[in-house]
Amino acid sequence: MSVRVPIWLTKVADEFSRRGFRFFLVGGAVRDQLREQKVDEWDVATDAVPEEVLTILRHLHAKNIGAVGARFGTITATFEGELLEITTFRGEQYLEDSRKPVTNFSATIDEDLSRRDFTINAIAFDVKKRELIDPFNGQGDLRSRIIRAVGRPTSRFHEDPLRMLRAIRFAVRLSFVIEAETVQGIKDERDRVGLLSPERVAQELDKMLMAEKPSQAITLMVETGLINYVFPELLPSIDLEFEPGSHKDIYSHILQVLDQTPPKRELRWCALLHDIAKPQTRRKVNGEYHFLGHEVVGAKVARTVLRRLKYPNEFVDYVSKLVYLHQRIPNDDGSWTDGAVRRFVRDAGECLDDLFTFAEADNTGKNERKLVTYREKRRTLRERIVRLEAEAEIAKIRPPLDGAELMELFKRPAGPWIKPIKDKLLELVLDGELAPDDKEKAAKIAREIVQR
Ligand code: ATP
Ligand code: MG
Repeated sequence: MSVRVPIWLTKVADEFSRRGFRFFLVGGAVRDQLREQKVDEWDVATDAVPEEVLTILRHLHAKNIGAVGARFGTITATFEGELLEITTFRGEQYLEDSRKPVTNFSATIDEDLSRRDFTINAIAFDVKKRELIDPFNGQGDLRSRIIRAVGRPTSRFHEDPLRMLRAIRFAVRLSFVIEAETVQGIKDERDRVGLLSPERVAQELDKMLMAEKPSQAITLMVETGLINYVFPELLPSIDLEFEPGSHKDIYSHILQVLDQTPPKRELRWCALLHDIAKPQTRRKVNGEYHFLGHEVVGAKVARTVLRRLKYPNEFVDYVSKLVYLHQRIPNDDGSWTDGAVRRFVRDAGECLDDLFTFAEADNTGKNERKLVTYREKRRTLRERIVRLEAEAEIAKIRPPLDGAELMELFKRPAGPWIKPIKDKLLELVLDGELAPDDKEKAAKIAREIVQR
């Protein structure tokens, strides 16, 4: 395990130290290097206050200097295309409503580290002395793959409820286990997640959903009860039978689909929401369950959930459209007319490819024969769409010269002489011997025909 510091960063560190400031690599930059993973964001802690950081970065001709997190004392910049985030040592206090941390800068790296969320994120690397500072044995927890709060979990989660979501996010993304007392802390403080701004919650949910096995994040949120505050709409699907007497519930189907969906944010949200309205639409008819219209109700629920989380309108529209249409491909029993296929393509619009991808992930049956049949049906539908689109393209092909242009070319009035010329030109275009926009060559050919 070793910490590597790129040359550009060593130069930045030298400038800080020349001016009498400390310079520590912290957070993900240390954690990920100790895990032998690539670093894509260089977090730094310093005792220089933000104005001094700005002065130094300008002096070093850093690019894209910004004070995005100025409230938290963070200055961002890039060097050689890599992102640097410099935060002044913090000793944060939180207002009772937990929305906004109030920063007061502290004097030491030890106090800074004690304010960080988890032991694995509270390791610093002194760039000048080239030594690790690890007061909470973060390296031990990295080796044992454990997420453990720094200090007393309940008070740390009480201070900043976002840490509860971060705990789950890190656990799922790194495949670590959350230590028992930390889990208990989440359970004790879960209702405070309700105080977070929707944007911050959504940002964490997105990161969880993009993990390799996002179902683990959902499971952890259900176990700890966080789900009640971020996405309670999921709860009715738990233990709700799919088929009478079956063991499988709708919740486990949703989780399975979620993991089978490729890591695209829109698709992952669609997976989470596609059957969300099955509980309220379930009816028993002749001993079997039907979920008539669940995709229509589901699209409405999707809208409510995503709006509440303050996603941009375009994203909300797109995901709820996926939910609304997610049954169309599985419902194709091969009896669709060409018109029905065209209508589907028109309705799907920009969602078409994602709907096919999703239909594939939504196929969770155990019966191998059925799986093959469904795959076959989807392929046939795909092929029909390609064929119909090609036919529509062909139908649009015209000869390079139309009747009016031919009349102009030969100074002759309309008459039966036109059709054979147009037919010949069209034939040449279809055979690929004449470009549909090559009017010059078309005129030459037309003259030859007339002279014959
Ligand atoms: P990644 O960048 O991969 O998401 P990271 O650990 O670098 O992971 P950041 O959000 O970039 O996460 O934060 C950098 C560091 O700042 C963290 O490692 C942690 O030490 C500290 N930190 C961030 N958010 C909090 C918080 N809410 N409470 C306490 N410490 C935090
Ligand atoms: Mg980071």
